[in-house]
Amino acid sequence: MAASDLVNLSGLLDNAKCFALVRQHRWPTGVRCPGCDSSAVTRDGHDDTQLHRQRYRCKTCTGRFDDLTATVLAGHHQPLRVWVLCLYFMGLNLSNRQIAAELGLCTSDVQAMTEQLRGGLVARAPAVTLQGEVEVDEVRRGRAQGPAGGSRKKGRPGRCRRLAGAPGRGTLEKDKPPILGLIQRGGQVLLHMLANVQQKTIKPIITGAVAPGTLIHTDEYGTYARLERWGYGHKTICHGRGEYARDEDGDGFCEVHVNTIEGFWSLLRSWLRPHRGISQEKLPDYLGFFQFVHNARRRGRALLGALIAGLVE
Ligand SMILES: [Zn+2]
Repeated sequence: MAASDLVNLSGLLDNAKCFALVRQHRWPTGVRCPGCDSSAVTRDGHDDTQLHRQRYRCKTCTGRFDDLTATVLAGHHQPLRVWVLCLYFMGLNLSNRQIAAELGLCTSDVQAMTEQLRGGLVARAPAVTLQGEVEVDEVRRGRAQGPAGGSRKKGRPGRCRRLAGAPGRGTLEKDKPPILGLIQRGGQVLLHMLANVQQKTIKPIITGAVAPGTLIHTDEYGTYARLERWGYGHKTICHGRGEYARDEDGDGFCEVHVNTIEGFWSLLRSWLRPHRGISQEKLPDYLGFFQFVHNARRRGRALLGALIAGLVE
C-alpha cells in the first residue's frame, strides 16, 4: 500500500471527519432538505448516540432529518467510520473475509454491509454515455473450457468467450448469463448482464448508451449486424480468420480491433476472483460496482471520495 493511502486511511479513523466527508459530498453547496429540497434549514443538535451526526430542521416543510437520512448509510449500529472503511476496502477489492479481518468484524456482518453498499451505489450510478470509438463484445461467465490460458483454437472460436469465474456454490453452474461490455477507447465502460444475446436485447442497451454516429468495433458475428441501421459506424475484426487487429488505412496503427474490451475482460476476471460463489442475482451489482470503480478512475477521481459521492450525492 502506498504511503499516501496510509495517510488517507489514518485520517478516516475519525467519525467526525467521516461525517464531514459525507456532508461535503452530499451538500457541496449547503444543506438541503431531502423532503422538499429547501435550503431554509437550521441545525437541530446532534444524534443521541453518534455525537458527530448533525440533525437538521427544515423551515419550509418542518421536516426533521440528519446527515445520513435517506442514504444507505442511515440506520446502522456500526459507526460511520466502519462503513467508510468498508467502502474503502471494497474499492481495493478485498473479499468480505479480508475486510472482516481488517475491521475486526464477523464475515456475515461484513457481507451484509458490502451488499448494501454495492447495491446502494449501483442503484444511484449515473448513466454512462460513450462516444468516439467504442468496442462492444460479450463474454459468458463460468469455468474456462479447453486448454489452460484460454488460448483460442484455430477456426471458428466459441461465440461467447468465457470469463473463468469462481467455482459456484450451486450458483451459476447451470445458467451462466452472458455479460455485454461496451467500452470507449480511453474512456468509460458499461457492463450489462444479459438474458440472451439477441439483437432485441442488445439494441436498447447500445442505443441508450452510445451516442449516434459513433464508430463501433466488434467481432464478425451476426449479433452486431444491424449497427449501421441503428445509426452507427461499424468495423468488424475477423477472429475466425485468425485476425486480431487490422491496419485499414495503412498508417501503421491497427485501428480495427477489439483489444480494449478483451483487455477489460481480463481486468474483470481478476476483479471477480476474490469473491467466491457470486449468485446470478448478485452478479449485476458486482458488475455495476466494478464499472463504477473503473469509470471513476478514468475520470481521474480519488476513489474513496467518488464512492462516498456515489452513495450520497
Ligand atoms: Zn423540507
